[in-house]
Amino acid sequence: MTGFSVTVPKNIEEALGLLEKWGRNAAVIAGGTDLVVELKDKVKSPKILVDIGRIPELRGISETEDGQVWIGALSTHCEIASSDMVKEAAPALAEACAFVGSPQIRNRGTIGGNICTASPAGDTIPPLYVFEASVEVRGPNGTRQVPIESFFEGPKKSVLSPQEIVLGVKVPKLGKEYVSFFRRLGQRKSLAISVVSVAFAGKCEGPGLFSDVRVALGAVAPTVVRARTVENALSNTKLDPKTLESVTKLAFRDSVPITDVRGSLEYRRDMACNLLYEGLLNMMECPKAG
Ligand SMILES: Cc1cc2nc3c(=O)[nH]c(=O)nc-3n(C[C@H](O)[C@H](O)[C@H](O)COP(=O)(O)OP(=O)(O)OC[C@H]3O[C@@H](n4cnc5c(N)ncnc54)[C@H](O)[C@@H]3O)c2cc1C
Repeated sequence: MTGFSVTVPKNIEEALGLLEKWGRNAAVIAGGTDLVVELKDKVKSPKILVDIGRIPELRGISETEDGQVWIGALSTHCEIASSDMVKEAAPALAEACAFVGSPQIRNRGTIGGNICTASPAGDTIPPLYVFEASVEVRGPNGTRQVPIESFFEGPKKSVLSPQEIVLGVKVPKLGKEYVSFFRRLGQRKSLAISVVSVAFAGKCEGPGLFSDVRVALGAVAPTVVRARTVENALSNTKLDPKTLESVTKLAFRDSVPITDVRGSLEYRRDMACNLLYEGLLNMMECPKAG
C-alpha cells in the first residue's frame, strides 16, 4: 500500500465536498473488505480515503412512505441477513447476505460496497435484480434513482461517477403470494467467491404454477443478468418435477459465461440450470401461498 491519508466526514455534504475537491485521487471506503485488498495489490492508489462509516444517514433499514424497503448503504450483510423486514419482504436477499464470506466479512462488509464493487459475482446483486430494486445515488447535481439493472456497465464498472455516493437501495415489497430464493455455488461453502449464483422470485398461483417469474444469474456474464428466456418459459406453465427439469435447462440461454480458474464455461452453464432446478423443486408446493 502506498501513502494516503484518511478523512472521516460527519455528513453526506461533507463527503461530497471531499470527493469533488480530490476527484480521482479520492476513494470512498465503507467496510474496506474489497478496497483494502485493492490497495494492497496496488490496483488503486488514492491519495485520500473518504471514510463514510460515521455518516448516520447511510445507516438503517426502514419502510419508505410508498411501501418499499430502504436499506442504507452502510448496512452490513449481517444486519440485512438478520433483519425481519428484509426476511419478510425480500427473503432471497437475506439468504444471499447470509452466504457472504465469513462472520467477520459479514460484520464488516456493506451492501453499498458490494454494489459499488460491481462484481458479476457479488452475492447481493442477483436478489436485487429479481426484486427490481433501485440504487439511490447522491452527487453534486442532487439525488437520482438508478434501476439496479442499469447500474452496472461491466466487470467492476458502473454508472457511478467519482463524485457520487450510494445512499442506499430501495426494494419494492412484493405481495405475500410471492416466493423467492437465492442459491450459489463456490469452490467451498464459505470464504469463496461465487462460481455461479441464481436468484428467483415469482408469484405462486398454485402448486407448480408461478406467474411474474424473475430469474437472475450471477457470475455467468460481465454483469449479473436477468434470464428472460427461462422466465418466460416458467411463467404460467404448470410444472411437475419432469417438466421443471427440461424448462430450467433454458437458464443458460441468457448467459455468456467465461472459463476461469474457478470453473469452466460448460460447468457454469450446467450449474446455473441445476441451481435453479434445485431451488424451484423446493418451492413447488408454494410454501407461502395460503
Ligand atoms: C475474504 C473475503 C471474502 C469475501 N466473500 C464474499 C462473498 O462471499 N460474496 C460477496 O459478494 N463478496 C464477498 N467479498 C467481497 C466484499 O466483502 C463485499 O463485496 C462487501 O460487501 C464489500 O463491502 P465493503 O463495505 O467492505 O466495501 P469497501 O471495500 O469499503 O468498498 C468497495 C468499493 O465500493 C466503493 N464504495 C463503498 N461504499 C460506497 C458508497 N456508499 N458509495 C460509493 N462508493 C462506495 C469503494 O470506494 C470501493 O471501490 C469477500 C471479501 C473478502 C476479503
